[in-house]
Amino acid sequence: MKYSVLADVYEELEKHSSKLKKRDILAELLKEASVKDLGLLAKIITGSVSSLETGVSTSMIIKAIGKASGNPESEVKNTFKRKGDLGITAEELIKSKKQRALLKKELSVENVYDEIVNLPEISGKGSQERKLNSVAGILIAATPKEAKYIVRTILGQLRVGVAQGILRDSIAKAFDIDKKLVESAWNLNPDFGKIAEVAKKDGEEGLKKIVIDVGSPLMVLLAEKSPSLKDALESYENPVLEVKFDGVRTQIHKKGDVVKVFTRKLEDVTKQFPDIVKMAKTSIIAKECIIDGEAVGMDPKTNTPLPFQKLSRRIQRKYDIEKMIKEIPVEVNIFDITYLNGKSLYNISFKERRKLLEKSIKSTKDFKITKQLKTKDLKKAEDFYNKALAQGQEGIMVKNLEAGYQPGRKVGYWLKVKPTMENLDLTIIGGVWGTGKRTGFVGSLILGCRDKEKFLTCGMLGTGLKEKKTDDTDVTLEEITRLLKPHIISEKGSSIEINPHVVVEVGYEEIQKSPKYESGYALRFPRLIRLRTMEKPASQADTLSRIKYLYTIQKGKK
Ligand code: AMP
Repeated sequence: MKYSVLADVYEELEKHSSKLKKRDILAELLKEASVKDLGLLAKIITGSVSSLETGVSTSMIIKAIGKASGNPESEVKNTFKRKGDLGITAEELIKSKKQRALLKKELSVENVYDEIVNLPEISGKGSQERKLNSVAGILIAATPKEAKYIVRTILGQLRVGVAQGILRDSIAKAFDIDKKLVESAWNLNPDFGKIAEVAKKDGEEGLKKIVIDVGSPLMVLLAEKSPSLKDALESYENPVLEVKFDGVRTQIHKKGDVVKVFTRKLEDVTKQFPDIVKMAKTSIIAKECIIDGEAVGMDPKTNTPLPFQKLSRRIQRKYDIEKMIKEIPVEVNIFDITYLNGKSLYNISFKERRKLLEKSIKSTKDFKITKQLKTKDLKKAEDFYNKALAQGQEGIMVKNLEAGYQPGRKVGYWLKVKPTMENLDLTIIGGVWGTGKRTGFVGSLILGCRDKEKFLTCGMLGTGLKEKKTDDTDVTLEEITRLLKPHIISEKGSSIEINPHVVVEVGYEEIQKSPKYESGYALRFPRLIRLRTMEKPASQADTLSRIKYLYTIQKGKK
């Protein structure tokens, strides 16, 4: 398929915000595509290509655009400053290029895909130069419109609003297949390219034949948040309580002697966790199975759970693994089993799955089946909950013993109960100019907390800012940009420094220690609740000591 066809589709997708319209545009594209192109398209459209860490920085893209368009770097930087988007910068500068190549080759989706996928592979001496040449080479061959989307793809900023749900629905529409069937096949084999290929080649019958493949990751069951412990208990006839550990979801696959470990995002982390592989080989009695659990980092000195961020260092680490195992050993808590000796357990109740799990694993100190409390008694449940918090855990899970296993968050089989954190009033001390639909607006806000006379960064917020006002309490991008503009002190590239003036109320999931921010703390999943500028000056914003205090009381970390 010609890349220009895909670029036209991106342009159409950007124009429309309706999910149904996006689905229809994509369905048309999928219908046209050859079976071979389908796999590439699924990867390239959902952005999973750029998550391969292309290792290309903004400054390298600036150089490449300069090379491809015959402009000095300073000109590219100026255009970028004006447009706030490197894709548009590439489009504009390549459009005004004086000399056009005479024999321009037409780019195919495959050419672009191959080039991007190859970027992380370029390493060693002179790799920066070779990467630059590779990106510039492809931009030279591109039309202005193609260049815009190639740049965005490389930077992982495609932002055409195609989440996996839309792609899934577009496969169903393109090949006239029941949406539910596409979804269930995808849950068992979360590879859209593969699903699209099978749907095109063999239709419904082909999708029905997709089964669990031990060694390939599966989508996982997630929990909904319950407003209270009482609500959670009342939700099920037959509830069971478990501690909600603060670690990393680990899906462990065992087939004979081979063990693989995956995260909830389907990343293969087997190499990073040889300790888990070893424990699994010793503890799992079953010949072939897939089990679900949470790996928690432990402090080797005190043998108490470490915060999640410490353990997350192990996921990213590709070298010195043995050293990391000593520094951050893990304890694996197993809570479910989804496949056993050739059979999927999705349609078997949790009560039955648990029995099978107990028969499949020999618990040890570091690799053990999670303890449960079967109760509907609020008092007993509260004791269990308080104990979990006192141990430094996140909260508890309340699970339906009668339910099967179905991936997704809204399936209603698990409920999480954890303390809600009080909102913080913080001031905005910086930001980043948005790209794509957010061009011309401050798209992300840098939050600051007060420390005597100074303001220290403590998080970055983009969630909660609306494009259009649908409710009185909504804060739009336009509104926040208008409020912030008079207080901008300086700009560097797309980053802005802002005088502390605008105060916002911010909700979040958790406070974490973080060397990334000046305060030493970061809010996890911050979201804008409302503007507080009318009621509060920056001098009354929440302080670093408040954040420190909230950090110590959360999860019983006293
Ligand atoms: P959340 O990420 O807040 O939506 O909560 C769901 C996550 O909690 C799961 O993906 C697991 O990683 C984690 N978790 C910790 N303990 C348990 C447990 N006992 N049962 C299920 N999930 C758990």
